[in-house]
Amino acid sequence: MKHHPDHFIDGRWTPPSDDGSKPLVDPFTQAPFATVATGGSAADVDLAVRAARRAFDGFSRVSVADRITLIDRIIASYERRVDDIAHLMAQEVGIPVSARAQATGPIGHMKAARDLIATYPFESRLAGTIVRREPIGVCALISPWNWPVQTPVIKAIYALAAGCTMVAKPSEASPLSGIFLAEIFAEAGVPPGVFNLVLGRGSVVGSALSGHPEVDMISFTGSTGAGIKVGESAARSVKRVSLELGGKSANIVLEDADVEKAARWNIKRCFFNAGQSCHAPSRMLVHESRMEEAIGYLVDEASAFKLGDPRDPTTTMGPVVNEAQFASIQRYIGGAIDEGPRLVSGGLGRPDGLDRGYFVKPTIFADVSPDMTIAREEVFGPVLAVIPYANEGEALSIANDSPFGLGGYVFSEDRKKGYAFASGLRAGRVCYNGEETNSVTPMGGYKQSGIGRSMGRIGLEEYLEIKSVYGFEEEAAHLPEFS
Ligand code: NAD
Repeated sequence: MKHHPDHFIDGRWTPPSDDGSKPLVDPFTQAPFATVATGGSAADVDLAVRAARRAFDGFSRVSVADRITLIDRIIASYERRVDDIAHLMAQEVGIPVSARAQATGPIGHMKAARDLIATYPFESRLAGTIVRREPIGVCALISPWNWPVQTPVIKAIYALAAGCTMVAKPSEASPLSGIFLAEIFAEAGVPPGVFNLVLGRGSVVGSALSGHPEVDMISFTGSTGAGIKVGESAARSVKRVSLELGGKSANIVLEDADVEKAARWNIKRCFFNAGQSCHAPSRMLVHESRMEEAIGYLVDEASAFKLGDPRDPTTTMGPVVNEAQFASIQRYIGGAIDEGPRLVSGGLGRPDGLDRGYFVKPTIFADVSPDMTIAREEVFGPVLAVIPYANEGEALSIANDSPFGLGGYVFSEDRKKGYAFASGLRAGRVCYNGEETNSVTPMGGYKQSGIGRSMGRIGLEEYLEIKSVYGFEEEAAHLPEFS
């Protein structure tokens, strides 16, 4: 069994100050397959932050052209190992190798960041003044396990594109994906200290990062509860905080919609990654006149998933990440059964024929009322709550009656009505009739789903400070107009 003991600090694999380790359990076999250091401490964080601080002076002055070359080398080194990462994610967190987007998605994001800085106005002109956008400094990048490579890649590549240095902390449930990223960055020749990785627990390493006075900015993705703690701790040293948090996103299916399309899409999107996606449309609002029709399609589509070994290319739903997540989802399903909505698919326990692995039955509750727990809390598993509504006003108010505001979805044959709903939804990203998202438009949430946005130009600006420089009107005249 391989042991992964080290952090990656200042360009070197560095033993932790305390030698604790824990086994990593394969969620399909339920057997340990590796051990990993848990011993990240505040001392290790300090070492990594200081390395990033030392590297910042030099790296923040590296030209945009050289940063583009560096990103190209990272892309090349990532592309060489894309199959390795797909297999690693299958073993570490149960993501099926067939969910190719988990492995290949990061490439598109890296290319988008590279292309963006080629033309981005780091220096511009406003009212005769030079406005500079400068790298903010040392960034702490804290990630969850559900997109264990893509989420940290987006953070790291935009931080690097901006000219920042960083300390990344992967989830304790997906440390190997974090180690993989450090290997890619090292192989691509990222200078020592620019990218550092500290393994360990959120309550220790994450908390030391959010409180460290030499960290200028935190980009955190994870649960709303942990995000609140990060925000509180970061406030004491006035850091910029970007939070991408939980969701309970609603898909409003209007009375005139193509209900079959909406239902099949909802199941595919909600149960992708075994429901462990922040933007999952986990509430589906259906006009009461079309409820039975919708349920028929939903149940049919849910039955099409092939659950099994995530390494088998024909598997379309793997196990959930670990025992704790399995138990939490089972509690939600049991609680919902007690609250009384109609269970139309799935339910408690493992699916038939699977006697090991943290598998959850694709589960659908119909006749859910908006005040039930299953309609309000993020389950983070393959569980859908279908809520009836009587009129459009009620649909919009149910959709917005949530502490979250991450994603929103609307299906209608009437584009005008669809757009009115898209405008009325209090959510950071809204898709009409199942439209795909892309990697250059901002992603983030309203309300308790977060602060700030990632990806594209607005995502890059999370890693930049703005400086107005007066007295250089002549030089400013040659710069592009501020935008
Ligand atoms: P989590 O909050 O438990 O952990 C996320 C990260 O935060 C981990 O690295 C963890 O170690 C760290 N952490 C935990 N407590 C901390 C603390 N006190 N201080 C600093 N860091 C701390 O979340 P998770 O279970 O890993 O991921 C699932 C959650 O992430 C879900 O709520 C999901 O919606 C959310 N998520 C959101 C987005 C988005 O873009 N909005 C994307 C993916 C996941």
